[in-house]
Amino acid sequence: MHIGLPKEIKVKENRVALTPGGVATLVRRGHRVTVERGAGVGSGLPDHEYEQAGAQFGSAADAWGAEMVVKVKEPIESEYPYLRDDLLLFTYLHLAADRPLTEALLKAGTTAVAYETVQLEDGSLPLLTPMSEVAGRLSVQAGAYHLQKPVGGRGVLLGGVPGVQPGHVTIIGGGVVGTNAAKMAMGLGAKVTILDVSQRRLAYLDDVFFGKLTTMMSSEANLRALLPDTDLLIGGVLIPGAKAPHLVTRDMLGLMPEGSVIVDVAVDQGGCVETIHATTHDDPTYLVDGVIHYGVANMPGAVPRTSTFALTNQTLPYALQLAEHGVDALKRDPALRLGLNTYGGELTYPGVAEAFELPS
Ligand code: NAD
Repeated sequence: MHIGLPKEIKVKENRVALTPGGVATLVRRGHRVTVERGAGVGSGLPDHEYEQAGAQFGSAADAWGAEMVVKVKEPIESEYPYLRDDLLLFTYLHLAADRPLTEALLKAGTTAVAYETVQLEDGSLPLLTPMSEVAGRLSVQAGAYHLQKPVGGRGVLLGGVPGVQPGHVTIIGGGVVGTNAAKMAMGLGAKVTILDVSQRRLAYLDDVFFGKLTTMMSSEANLRALLPDTDLLIGGVLIPGAKAPHLVTRDMLGLMPEGSVIVDVAVDQGGCVETIHATTHDDPTYLVDGVIHYGVANMPGAVPRTSTFALTNQTLPYALQLAEHGVDALKRDPALRLGLNTYGGELTYPGVAEAFELPS
């Protein structure tokens, strides 16, 4: 199959959908890959590495002219003219939040497979997990930095030093984000408490981290008890398909120490802290009632090189299936079938159809 790798053109997007290693794997299997010049530069992957991997080079139009296009972000308006009915598009799409793109894909009759709806039998979302891993780990780095006095923080070193108490990190939600945040916080030597509503999840965390962190059932009473002693609060709650519940309300901020920090990773779903709103890497924090709020909605964007490798490790096996079998790959793999969002001018993913009250 002929595969195209365009450069991402959405503002501040530095990831790329295939590494040179991924291109080499596709080429070894007999596929042809056209890379837009400079596609990997934002992730520290220069053209000559793609050349060594066997890629051909061309313009954006050349890459988009392939039978299958692999991308990171959804096509933006200036890319709509590249959509066509014999194109197989494999990328993050988030169509439920993007009516113009949905209409453009349907009008063009493009076959679009969305990373975020590829779903395994156990309900997990393998192409979303790597970005939650990155964001969870980054949340502790961001929090530790903003706890420093010169940037307005409480002046607490998360790991403490011998003879001085470490900082206390409270994590709401013990899923992928929460578990990765816990690992990093414990690695720094912080005291860690993690709350979840799932007893099974708490039991798992207690098993794997026994003795190194405290698990607690997520409830308002437990949160109120923890907040006065919390230096860094991390939000990692997810209720699939719904907005995050506001578990920390405005009045509860007053319980937190002055200069403490909230990193609400769940901000992309509305956040689990009432006072959080989305911020950017250029201006990531703001202050409410003496508490620093960090609400960057695309945290992995800060580490595009790591994020590119993390994402492509997971997407490549699916891209290979699509390259080998075309749309038939969707019949062979039920997880990939769930990724199909549009086909032949029809919406094929119920969640998107419901969002626009369209038939699916
Ligand atoms: P996940 O499904 O792995 O984990 C969510 C956890 O929240 C589950 O363990 C669930 O039991 C728990 N939960 C549900 N209700 C709760 C409650 N009331 N109290 C405590 N815990 C509760 O999800 P994830 O992959 O860890 O993602 C978490 C959030 O982070 C999502 O909103 C995701 O979109 C977001 N995210 C944001 C960024 C970013 O850049 N800001 C990046 C990646 C992921």
